[in-house]
Parts: sequence; structure tokens; C-alpha cells
Amino acid sequence: MLRTLYIDGEWTSAIGGGTREIRCPANGEVVAIVDEADDRDSVAAIRAARRAVDSGVWSSVPAAERGDLLLRAAARLRERKEEFARAESLDTGKRIVESRIDMDDIAACFDYFGKLAGQDAGRVVDAGNAGVASRIEHEPVGVCTLITPWNYPLLQAAWKIAPALAAGNAFVLKPAELTPHTAILMMQVLEELELPAGVANLVLGAGAACGTPLSTDPDVDMVSFTGGLATGRLLAANAAATVKKVALELGGKNPDVVFADADLDAALDNALNAAFVHSGQVCSAGARLILEESIAEDFVDELVRRAEGIRLGGPFDEDAETGALISAQHRDKVHAYVQAGIAEGARLRCGGRFGEGDLASGFYYLPTVLDQVRRGMSVVRDEAFGPVVTVETFRSEDEAVATANDTIYGLAGAVWTQDAGRAQRVARRLRHGTIWINDFHPYLPQAEWGGFKQSGVGRELGPTGLVEYQEVKHIYQNLAPAVTGWFADHGST
Ligand code: NAD
Repeated sequence: MLRTLYIDGEWTSAIGGGTREIRCPANGEVVAIVDEADDRDSVAAIRAARRAVDSGVWSSVPAAERGDLLLRAAARLRERKEEFARAESLDTGKRIVESRIDMDDIAACFDYFGKLAGQDAGRVVDAGNAGVASRIEHEPVGVCTLITPWNYPLLQAAWKIAPALAAGNAFVLKPAELTPHTAILMMQVLEELELPAGVANLVLGAGAACGTPLSTDPDVDMVSFTGGLATGRLLAANAAATVKKVALELGGKNPDVVFADADLDAALDNALNAAFVHSGQVCSAGARLILEESIAEDFVDELVRRAEGIRLGGPFDEDAETGALISAQHRDKVHAYVQAGIAEGARLRCGGRFGEGDLASGFYYLPTVLDQVRRGMSVVRDEAFGPVVTVETFRSEDEAVATANDTIYGLAGAVWTQDAGRAQRVARRLRHGTIWINDFHPYLPQAEWGGFKQSGVGRELGPTGLVEYQEVKHIYQNLAPAVTGWFADHGST
């Protein structure tokens, strides 16, 4: 499966001849071999995107027509849904039913930005002066680099590709090196739809070795990144040297706050979903369960009983409820994190070990519950990005809010209560970009997504998700030009 880089409208191999084996996390088997690009390929892709931007080949297409291409992309994705979903599951180990949901969400994202593109007419400004016509126009930023993680490979890319194209930009996409498959299929779709050469470019390869020019090259106007905090900080620092626009969607340490008056069956069921769906490899995972003290003991006993019963398995195992972690290396990292928590005094209630028996050939980690934790412990502070939930308790509403906000992150959180006033109060006081009341995880393409604090900069989705990829230009026209007389004419010297 080589010639998997897509640069300037051509499928090509890596300049250095590098290749990479892609392994399915469910069993470690090789599912594809793809090109492994380095910085030379990334620079070639950036130059192609720059030429496309400078020629105006895409930005000069009327916005409604750009939107139409996105709507056709959504239709094509729906036609090829099963092929895309299988590819995503093989790369990630994710259950096929979850990959199908992802593909529906991706098509919905293309639909949303496809429709939004044609509605963006700028704005007439009232200058307060009949002799002046003033208006705001939105223009593309230019060359955007889109760098994405492995947990929701095409979904995270779609949140960037769709608005970037709607706004008239050219882009270079670098998906995570472990999960390239659906990005390749996506470029096939854009090629079929005759997107002009150079507007969409794809490089595949390891972080810094392939990706460094994407945040340093002067031809790049904007870096849009979804991934870990450390990488985000590095890319933002790189981008600062040439003052690129930066959009960052980083990690989270998301609180799931349950009051004693909540519908406890629903809260428990959702706490399992919050922590363990996709084996916790979700930026908005509910990794900190924060329970009112009076219900904590029974709630945790039941949580542990249910967590111990979760069935793990491969993407096509119909009995499986969740899957493997992305790699052996990542599983080792999650295990080390749990061990560190135990060493600091946390009590292991279940999990804390690798999958055994039939699961031993894949990168499985059992759903893990830790209680008797304290604020400040590494397991309460740091993102695990695995199937690990910690339990803390509170006695008052103020204490619940303070605990939930005691994190450098601010991506998402939930509050469970049947008291409508308290629900609204707590929702307003939580310093996180998305708050669920009596729910966990749903999001809407028409509603902004992103983080407070160190969970990121900017927003994806919603109208703001399009604005991220636009420059705002003010055009001020004097309808009655006249001499200002500001400086006197002193004649020639
Ligand atoms: P990561 O930061 O290791 O990698 C993300 C991407 O950055 C990959 O494509 C990687 O190759 C690339 N990269 C790494 N170093 C680079 C460099 N020097 N230059 C250019 N590119 C580089 O993150 P990950 O492990 O793939 O993903 C997990 C993280 O992503 C978690 O922290 C998770 O919370 C976060 N995430 C956030 C959201 C969100 O919406 N906020 C969504 C999904 C994942």
C-alpha cells in the first residue's frame, strides 16, 4: 500500500524511501504498510499548499460552491462508510460499531460546514457617516497545517479539514503515525471530487521527524493541532517565531460530579461510559469521579462490580464492549501511571493489569478504579488516556466545584443532580469548555468544542470553528474623498 502521501494532487512515496508497518492493537498483526515521510516531504507539501493559496485556485471559488464540495464529500463518506469504518477499526482496535458512529459524525461535520460556508457573507458596518462604506470580510488564513491524534483519527481530522476548506484555505494534514488509513481514504474522496491540486495534502510520519516544518516553516500561516499538552506547548512555541495563528485542542482531566439527589442508576451507567468507552482513550473521558460523600461507598461498590464485568475484545468481536489500547508502549504508560498512583497511596479497587488469555496478544488493559485518592496525587492530576477512573468525595456544593476545578485542564465535565437550580449553578461555575447536566459525552457539530485553561486555545465546530480558519478584514471606503488639510503644504524646499 505504498504511494500513500498525497502532495500537489499526486500520490507519491517518501523522498527518503521510508516505510512503516501499521499494526492492529487488538492482536498486534500488521494490517498495512505505508510511506513514512520526513521533513523533506512535509516541506514539499507546504510548498504545494503555498502555491495553491497564492494562485487563489480555491479561495476564488464562491463560498457556496466550496460548501457544495463538502456536501458531496459527506455523501461519498456515507456511501463508503463500511470501508472507512473497517479501516478505522483495524488501525485503532476500536469496535466496528463505534467506528460506524464516528463515520456518521464525520459526514455530519462535512454537512454542517458545507451548509455554513455559503451563509458567511461578512458584515456591513455602520460607520455613522453617510460618506463612508465600511464592511467586514472573511478571508482564508492561507496555508494551514492540521496535526491530529490516533484516538478518533478521521473525526479529529474532519473537524479541521471541513472548516479549513469551507473557508478557502489549503492544508497539509499529518495524522498520527499509528492510524493513517482513513486519512488516505479521505484524500481519495477529495481527489475524486476534483478539489484543485495542492489544496489538500497528506504526509504520514512520526511526530518531530516528519512534523517539525509544519510548525516552523515560514510558508505556514496557521497550525491547528489536536493532541497532548507537551506537544501542544512545543508547537505553539515553534509557531510563535513567525507569529502563526495557533489552534490547540489538548488533553483533559474531566470531572464527573454526582450529587446524592441524582438519578443514581443513570449516573452510574454514565460514569462507566464516561470512563471506559474506547478504553478511556478519549480527551473528554470522565476520569475523575467526584461523589457526594453520603452515596460514595455504595456507588463505588457498584461501579467496581460493573467495571469488572466489562467485556474486552477485538473490533469485530460482537460480544466486546470496548477494545485494546493503541500500542504496547501506551499500555505500559497507563500501567506505570496506575502503579505510581498506588505507590502514592491510592487503593486499587479493580483492574490495574493487562488483559490475559485470549486478550494477551493485543494491547488490552482492564478497566481500573482507584479510590482513597487525594488532590495533588499524580493519578488525580495527570491525564491517563486509558481505562482508569479515580474517586474523590465532597460534602458541599462549594467543595464539589472547587474539587472539579482543581486541574490545569478545562475541557469538559458533568454534573448529576435533580435540583434544576443547583445544576445550572454548578454548570456555570465549572471552568471547562463543555458541561453536561445529567449526561456525559454527547457533542453537536453545531456547538463549539474546546478547552479552558491548558486544554487548549480556540474552538472547533460551531460557527467559531469556521472563524478559526478565517482572517477578518475591514474594508473602509471613503465615498467622498477630500483633502484633509492635516499637514499644510509648505511648497518645495
Ligand atoms: P501527541 O501529542 O503525542 O500526538 C498528536 C499528533 O502530534 C500526532 O500526529 C503526532 O505525530 C504529532 N506530533 C508529535 N510531535 C510533533 C512535532 N514535534 N511536530 C509535529 N507534530 C508532532 O498526542 P497523541 O498521543 O496522539 O493523542 C493523545 C492526546 O490527544 C491526549 O492528550 C488527548 O487528550 C488529546 N486529544 C484532545 C482532543 C480534544 O478535542 N481536545 C481530542 C483528541 C485527543
